[in-house]
Amino acid sequence: MEVRCLSLPPLGANCYLLQNGPQGLVLDPGGAPEAVAAACGELGLTPAAILLTHGHFDHVGAVSALAERWGGLAVYCHAADVSDAPGEFTWQKLPTWKPLAEGQTLALAGLELNVLHTPGHSPGSCCFLAGDCLFTGDVLFQGSMGRTDLPGGDDGQMAASLKRLAALPGNYRVYPGHGPATTLDQERARNPYLRGLAP
Ligand SMILES: [Zn+2]
Ligand SMILES: [Zn+2]
Repeated sequence: MEVRCLSLPPLGANCYLLQNGPQGLVLDPGGAPEAVAAACGELGLTPAAILLTHGHFDHVGAVSALAERWGGLAVYCHAADVSDAPGEFTWQKLPTWKPLAEGQTLALAGLELNVLHTPGHSPGSCCFLAGDCLFTGDVLFQGSMGRTDLPGGDDGQMAASLKRLAALPGNYRVYPGHGPATTLDQERARNPYLRGLAP
């Protein structure tokens, strides 16, 4: 699996393209659908689905346009972030939404991804494990963690989610929703919100 990062408007959130030969997945297309489509075109990648770490507007802005462009692509998001997503993006207009659930294994584009429901930043925040990669959305950043003061945020849930990530066996390349990529070992050692949480 090849991972490519696009930083997209309006807030520069990270959109990831997960490529497996001519197939692939688009994770968190926050805006600029033309730029996402162009990047897929350059890579010779036809997306099999869109994955969302959570429902905030800066991660979902291009979802409708891209789902439509590729003929009703399935869009995976946890139900807890679907119910009341504000902004231009309305789930009601998206007939191809598929709910994510804790412990689920997705087999898409020849890839296998495990879903961890990790609430705290938002009620429906999820992380995805794929091979040696961990996509953390706005739960875990390099040296930091996501906000818990937005609607639906919860400090206690965030602490439990971070503890869970810290306890994952082995090391992972970590691809967060904002900022640079890192590794789980590095965050376990240096991130003040993760340090000391591993068992
Ligand atoms: Zn967010
Ligand atoms: Zn974000």
